[in-house]
Amino acid sequence: MKDKTIFAKIIDREIPASIVYEDDQCLAFKDVHPQAPVHILIVPKKPIDRLSSASGEDQLLLGHLLLTANKIAEQAGLKDFRLVVNSGPGAGQTVLHLHVHILGGREMEWPPG
Ligand code: AMP
Repeated sequence: MKDKTIFAKIIDREIPASIVYEDDQCLAFKDVHPQAPVHILIVPKKPIDRLSSASGEDQLLLGHLLLTANKIAEQAGLKDFRLVVNSGPGAGQTVLHLHVHILGGREMEWPPG
């Protein structure tokens, strides 16, 4: 069996996190190294390692993550916000459990680094 990722341990309450939202499909918590005044991670409870590993059977789950991001951003008082999904180490993914970053509360620049 593969080693549990840090996000799987947060989902299973084996390590603490500042949780802001939970439902049967996903959990959202504050990023420990925030890159913006609001920086929240949404993770599916299903352990998909990266976006490119998702398949057709994950279609509803992926839609749910985006609509949940809308809800959480609204709860956080964000009108404008950025979502980031790093898929793979070359794109900056450091935790191999799919997650969506919600960033907001400051002006965003483009292109990202
Ligand atoms: P990524 O680089 O896209 O894989 O993003 C991983 C994110 O997880 C980074 O922004 C980290 O700061 C964040 N992170 C790592 N460990 C924890 C933790 N224990 N609790 C909350 N966020 C974490």
